[in-house]
Amino acid sequence: MIINDNNIDKLAWDKMQGLIPCIVQDAASGRVLMQGYMNPEAVASTLQSKEVTFFSRSKERLWRKGETSGNTLQLQELVADCDQDSLLALVNPNGPTCHLGTESCWIPEQQPAASELIELQRTVQARKAEGNDSNSYTASLLQDGVRRCAQKVGEEGVEVALAAVAQDDEALLNESADLLYHLTVVLAARDLKLEDVIKVLRQRRK
Ligand code: AMP
Ligand code: ZN
Ligand code: ZN
Ligand code: ZN
Repeated sequence: MIINDNNIDKLAWDKMQGLIPCIVQDAASGRVLMQGYMNPEAVASTLQSKEVTFFSRSKERLWRKGETSGNTLQLQELVADCDQDSLLALVNPNGPTCHLGTESCWIPEQQPAASELIELQRTVQARKAEGNDSNSYTASLLQDGVRRCAQKVGEEGVEVALAAVAQDDEALLNESADLLYHLTVVLAARDLKLEDVIKVLRQRRK
């Protein structure tokens, strides 16, 4: 159930004694970022401000995540589970979510493997936005234009092919990483995303 202003009271508040756990998930990568508790006011405030707001049990008040750090959680959608006693907030995070400075309150090794590609794409897009100022390889590739990015994809593709017929796993893995990186860059050069590619794959599976 997608939560809106008119169905907040449909949540299992009585069963949960007024506090429902809310899991926060990165809408783009699927990474789990943090978990907190919401009361009805926190849900209403989250929907109204579009920034995830919990009820802090230690502070005993509404707590808008990022209120002091600036690392807010921009709400995309708030949904309840099958029996309305658990919430999931799909968000676009502004900066690291954990107060220890990491992206998530859980270690990266435990996050879905494919989410690493989305994180890589995020970095590439940030370099593109920074443009000339940053002294990064990605920025300079993008500055050189789509032809240069395309040429790199061609080169890395050939390197993957050559490594694939040799016996060395490490070389094949490294060349594959190069290819995935440069593929992300060429897509960014054309203002396309990995998600657009995944849509095509999904379509084909049907
Ligand atoms: P913030 O809401 O990011 O401004 O952080 C304010 C305070 O909330 C921090 O000093 C921490 O005590 C706490 N806090 C922030 N983020 C988290 C988190 N992901 N998990 C638990 N506590 C947090
Ligand atoms: Zn449940
Ligand atoms: Zn944390
Ligand atoms: Zn290579």
